[in-house]
Amino acid sequence: MADKQDSTRKETLGFQTEVRQLLKLMIHSLYSNKEIFLRELISNASDAADKLRFEALAQPDLLGEDELTIQIEIDKEKRQLSVVDNGIGMSRDELVDNLGTIARSGTAEFLEQMTGDQQHDATLIGQFGVGFYSAFIVADKVTVDTRRAGDDKAVRWESNGEGEFTIEEIDREERGTRVTLHLKDDGAEFVEPFRIESLIRKYSDHIGFPVSLHTEGEDETKVVNSATALWTRSRTDVEDEEYKEFYKYLSHDFADPLAWSHNRVEGKREYTSLLYIPAAAPFDMWNREAPRGLKLYVQRVFIMDDAEQFLPLYLRFVKGVVDSADLPLNVSRELLQQNPDLAAMRSALTKRVLDMLGKLTKGDDYAKFWLEFGQVLKEGLVEDLANKDKLAKLLRFATTQSGTDAQDQSLDDYVARAQEDQDKIYYILADNHATAVASPHLEQLLKRGLEVLLLTDRIDPWLVDGIAEYEGKALVDVSRAALDLPDDEEKTSLESMNEEHQPLLERIKGVLSDRVETVHVSRRLVDSPACVVAADDDLNPQLRRMLEASGQEIPETKPILEINVEHPLVSRLAAEADEQRFEGLSNIVLDHALLAEGSQLDNPAAYVHRMNKLLLDIESGTKND
Ligand code: ADP
Repeated sequence: MADKQDSTRKETLGFQTEVRQLLKLMIHSLYSNKEIFLRELISNASDAADKLRFEALAQPDLLGEDELTIQIEIDKEKRQLSVVDNGIGMSRDELVDNLGTIARSGTAEFLEQMTGDQQHDATLIGQFGVGFYSAFIVADKVTVDTRRAGDDKAVRWESNGEGEFTIEEIDREERGTRVTLHLKDDGAEFVEPFRIESLIRKYSDHIGFPVSLHTEGEDETKVVNSATALWTRSRTDVEDEEYKEFYKYLSHDFADPLAWSHNRVEGKREYTSLLYIPAAAPFDMWNREAPRGLKLYVQRVFIMDDAEQFLPLYLRFVKGVVDSADLPLNVSRELLQQNPDLAAMRSALTKRVLDMLGKLTKGDDYAKFWLEFGQVLKEGLVEDLANKDKLAKLLRFATTQSGTDAQDQSLDDYVARAQEDQDKIYYILADNHATAVASPHLEQLLKRGLEVLLLTDRIDPWLVDGIAEYEGKALVDVSRAALDLPDDEEKTSLESMNEEHQPLLERIKGVLSDRVETVHVSRRLVDSPACVVAADDDLNPQLRRMLEASGQEIPETKPILEINVEHPLVSRLAAEADEQRFEGLSNIVLDHALLAEGSQLDNPAAYVHRMNKLLLDIESGTKND
């Protein structure tokens, strides 16, 4: 029977493995940043106050007449620091869940990336977001006393951060939470009033609740922060440092953001938004279930975290706050979705982010942004065609003229370099940069000085469909059959060339008819004997491989083989009288063309066999000489 004795008994519970690892790593990697524990604890206290105010909308009794406050207490003699709030508090079960486990999926994999190198790990932890556990950077024991608003029982959680924690029922009059840090020897600085006062100012000036400091043995308790939520202040009154601190408080990141945008909209709809671009992608950016979105307030009252309705999925890296004057206070996720104002707000906020990124392109930070978030932003050209023009300007590519695999060239850069009569933007899709640059499909374009975008991201086949054209120039895949180069006098002569070489083409087609659709003379080759191209309405090979890898059945289509009639190997082929050798050689020419574009051979063993035979032929040929 779960009688009273049972429930008051002190229980010892183990931390989830991930928590144990995180604790160890955090203490080690954040040691030189240790003061941030205070930001994290104040941030949690402020969230707790926000949540209580929210629940009190439906149940005013929970709040009563109390003012919501946060108090920091320091006791020099005992070397203790406490963060006390009268917010929502936690029940026993919440306490065990919240401070004993980490619910984010992918955490274990994330932790495996830690190396033990302080700087490297500190950056990684920043992407994860530190939280309550940072208390153990400075404390060798932490006690949490808490009573949930509306509950009559209070609970104590206690741990030395080494694998276990205890839970017991306690007497506690007040609602809310007291987190007490028993500081390590080298944490003595955190009981110095002067030091703590300056930290409180630094870390909590921008939150909407008063934060006061009480020093043991002194009567006075003084409010230290200005207790005005940062986004409610006028832009001109807020320093850059304050914006940065607020970002860290909001995101639990401890790197500075790359950019922010703070706006108040008045008129038919009234709201304030403060949006940030982080410097690094969170570890779970590719996890569809990972929390994302803005913190929603209505008339300064916190309503929900992770309100994903305000921005499209491809802007999921944006952090920030939106505070609406018009949405109903009782708005839920479902009601929000149906709210007639939502679409307009969403499109305005999207535009703000894109404008902010547009500004960022003017400086050096854009390269950092692109490296972290470029692939996500590309989704926009598939998802959000309304903003196509703005998005296309933000794209960055590696090209045949940039000389590196860095994606740092814009479409405007490309267009500015385009040849006078060039009405196309050329691109090639490949699995990686090395395959792209080495592709035979580029030869003729390179010879003519035509620049080609080298596209190697998974999303690129969709991206090029999304862009379709830019500044009046159509995007053209250089590996398509109907490649049309500017000022192409040879175009007519191609037909005559096909005619002229008809017997050879027919002969090759005859031996490769199972593997190719047809055989043409190529205009795009210079140094290579052959290449394969796709008919214009076929799937391109990258997309095909991707779809097949994801388990989809794609109907077989055969490529077109293009041969370079100027190439000595092709002349050799034409001169081959032995039918068997002709067949072997033709197959090898095709095999190599397929390998060069990154395709897998359907029958690699047959290729190896043909190749060995050829090598032996050469061998015996030289002996005979
Ligand atoms: P995060 O704040 O990023 O969710 P934390 O590890 O800091 O992660 O905290 C875990 C959870 O514990 C919080 O989400 C919250 O539910 C709860 N919590 C922490 N501190 C408090 C507090 N002072 N009052 C109420 N709940 C708290």
